[in-house]
Amino acid sequence: MGHLAPFLRLATLLSSHDCTITLITPTPTVSAAESHHLSTFFSDHPHIHRLHFPLNPSTATTPTEADDPFFIRWVQITQSLHLFSPLLSSLSPPLSAIFSDFAASMSFSHVSEALSIPYYVVFTSCARFLSLLASLPSLNVGGFDDDYVQIPDLPPLAKSILPRPFFNSNHFFTSFTLSNVQSLLKARGVFLNTFEEFETETITALNNGSVLSMKLPHVIPIGPLESFNVENGEKSEKGSDYLIWLDGQSDGSVVYISFGSRTSMSKEQIREIGNGLEKSGCAFFWVLKGSKVDKEDTAGIEEILGESFIKRTKDKGVAVKGWVEQEGILSHPAIGGFVSHCGWNSVMEAARHGVPLLAWPLHGDQKVNAEVVEKAGLGMWVREWGWGGERLVRGEEVGDKVREMMTDEKLRRRGREIGEEARKAFGEKWQLSEGSNGSH
Ligand code: UDP
Ligand code: UDP
Ligand code: UDP
Repeated sequence: MGHLAPFLRLATLLSSHDCTITLITPTPTVSAAESHHLSTFFSDHPHIHRLHFPLNPSTATTPTEADDPFFIRWVQITQSLHLFSPLLSSLSPPLSAIFSDFAASMSFSHVSEALSIPYYVVFTSCARFLSLLASLPSLNVGGFDDDYVQIPDLPPLAKSILPRPFFNSNHFFTSFTLSNVQSLLKARGVFLNTFEEFETETITALNNGSVLSMKLPHVIPIGPLESFNVENGEKSEKGSDYLIWLDGQSDGSVVYISFGSRTSMSKEQIREIGNGLEKSGCAFFWVLKGSKVDKEDTAGIEEILGESFIKRTKDKGVAVKGWVEQEGILSHPAIGGFVSHCGWNSVMEAARHGVPLLAWPLHGDQKVNAEVVEKAGLGMWVREWGWGGERLVRGEEVGDKVREMMTDEKLRRRGREIGEEARKAFGEKWQLSEGSNGSH
């Protein structure tokens, strides 16, 4: 969802600026959330064309990666990309531009060259992570001589926060990223779901040409992108039990906890978080995931948390499983803080609504994102909590930090400022009139 959501949002925005859009959707999808969002999206936007792209089912993955269906699909997409060219050349009316995920840039740069169509990359993480990927070919990540990597013109990045696959040059993600970086140079521009004020230094360095020896295409911040279905979501979820509960809470008093669409935690860690929330004394709204893929997440809340926890905290909080409309929740006045894995979409949604974060990065780009959050002043991050599954973070620690975030007035003030900057940046970039850019 972290890759799909920005594309749906961008497609809606471009379409409202009189572009004719064809959205290519690889099938089959992995999660129910994806199929649900795609069908809602196309029924709400009948003027946006859907082009089904059936994936090549044969994949070669290593045993450790084979248990991650999202990873397998990623490989399948990569292995099917050569099939795009005939599909795209036959479209009518013919395409005037191609926008592709960074993860598919190698193939699309070839296709666009063959068809002589301008080509743009959409990057779904932060500018800081783009600066890391763009300089990856010249960084000695695997070398043990230093604790930091130095990206020209930017502060050094601690190696401890880099995605772990980058330390292994044979890892699929590393070789795949290196190939895609070469294709970046062929793009006319790179769109990012971020905004100038949040990542000023990095965006400036990327656009000054100092990050790569060859000049990168122009980097264009277009965020924070707004949920395409905030209105629908609010309509369909109005009256749901949890929104009624939120309506009854005082402003800024509730902490929201969610680790995104594809990250589950161990049963022990979930129990510790529960203890922590209870100890924090704060009201909470907690979205739980028991397994990576939503369709397999069949255990009930009682089974995971235990009946006595639910009884004890009945007046203090809500724990739910399944999909919630996160933007609708973050825009609710009762929400005063967000414990997040720092998937980049979650970060931008928190920024947009001025909600402070307690960063708990677990995988991939998330520690780099957490550092950006901390630097912008939108949140706090306990580095000692480590990568996902590295250690059991105890309830006391969680409780203390949640309380600290929820009572930090300075953080709250800065959150409000960031929210104003974010909405202004988005409105100006997309030339929206006052009041038409959503949130409060
Ligand atoms: N999301 C949501 N409801 C959920 C779980 C996720 O609306 O129950 C949305 C969230 O608002 C964000 C996206 O799904 O737009 C998740 O992307 P992110 O980059 O935050 O993390 P990922 O899921 O890719 O790890
Ligand atoms: N993973 C995840 N969500 C993410 C990124 C990764 O659930 O946003 C999973 C994925 O299955 C991956 C595993 O976590 O294979 C470990 O990823 P990590 O980045 O921690 O590196 P690794 O353990 O492979 O060195
Ligand atoms: N990554 C990883 N395992 C995963 C997904 C991502 O190790 O399962 C790493 C990989 O190095 C990738 C980086 O995280 O280049 C950022 O991934 P991205 O945000 O593009 O994908 P996502 O984490 O949202 O799946």
